[in-house]
Amino acid sequence: MSKRDYYEILGLDKSASAEEIKKAYRKLAKKYHPDVSTEKDAETKFKEVQEAYDVLSDSQKKGQYDQFGHQAPGAGQGGFGGGFGDFDFNDIFSSFFGGGGQRSQSSRSQPRKGSDIRKVMNISFEESVFGKKEKIKVSVYDECHVCHGTGAESKSDIKTCSQCHGNGTVIMEQQTIFGRTRTQATCPKCGGTGKEIKNKCSNCQGEGVERVSKNVEVKVPAGIDSNQHIRLASYGNKGANGGPNGDLYILIKIKPSDVFVRRGDEIIITYPITFSQAALGAEVKVPTVYGDVMLTVPAGTQSESKFRLKGKGMTNVRTKQKGDQHVIVNVMTPKKLSSEQRKLFEQMSKVEDSPEESKGFWEKFKSNFSK
Ligand SMILES: [Zn+2]
Ligand SMILES: [Zn+2]
Repeated sequence: MSKRDYYEILGLDKSASAEEIKKAYRKLAKKYHPDVSTEKDAETKFKEVQEAYDVLSDSQKKGQYDQFGHQAPGAGQGGFGGGFGDFDFNDIFSSFFGGGGQRSQSSRSQPRKGSDIRKVMNISFEESVFGKKEKIKVSVYDECHVCHGTGAESKSDIKTCSQCHGNGTVIMEQQTIFGRTRTQATCPKCGGTGKEIKNKCSNCQGEGVERVSKNVEVKVPAGIDSNQHIRLASYGNKGANGGPNGDLYILIKIKPSDVFVRRGDEIIITYPITFSQAALGAEVKVPTVYGDVMLTVPAGTQSESKFRLKGKGMTNVRTKQKGDQHVIVNVMTPKKLSSEQRKLFEQMSKVEDSPEESKGFWEKFKSNFSK
């Protein structure tokens, strides 16, 4: 099943502002909310709207989506979208119907994976051939080294929450359009942790995380191509509530070579040879990314002829097999002649025949234009 465009889902075009995106989302979320909607497939449509908003309301995800669509790097197997399970009904209800203070348990106190980090690495063509290791600095959110993630100045500053008595949840009564409801909600005072911090950690202001610069060694595999990315699992930002860290994605950009052109695992070069080399045949030295090799150009070689140097192409990142190098010879017509060369060409012009092909050419021409 092909995924629908996120803008299309929200009925917007790509130039839509953040405000317009939010407006469209609210309107549609209300229309398709499975508890109130009478529309067919309301739940599916609701999920679609939710996923579209999840991406388009996040400037980083939106940027990725605008550039790469559903195939955005780092989007994972299922593309973007957190899935239905992460969605918090209470959030949407409180914003629509004026209820306050509710946040479902899932959004605050359950383990959540940290966010991913994306970086671009520029490498040379040669480095893409052989691969490389490079140490890079990455700025990530990690556990605060002073409070070890508690957010408190000292251990004695951590108290049991006075509102929920450490449960993390409270029972809320609320008047909604469906009548009076009682719901269990995350404690608004402690945010579900069951703890109150008297004096916040001065290093992280109680957040429990701090920005640190980490050294990461990136192994670029031989044969990597431009716009491919390398994933370093759990080198991203710290997860919340004991959730795993996010991942680090390195997007590779390769500076093209002046000599070699890459097509998948194959390398193509254009190599100049002289008239006499083409006519008489020759052994010529041809560059490859693995060093120069001798290529036998047979007598009577035509310009644009292709030769294959087996195993002199790029390494396939997955199979580790090497592609080939293709050499396209270009027979060069001399632009300047010395007097000796001129004499020899003049002599040759007296003895050489018109090429076979030119006779055939005139016959074809006559047969086509006989009228
Ligand atoms: Zn701290
Ligand atoms: Zn509490």
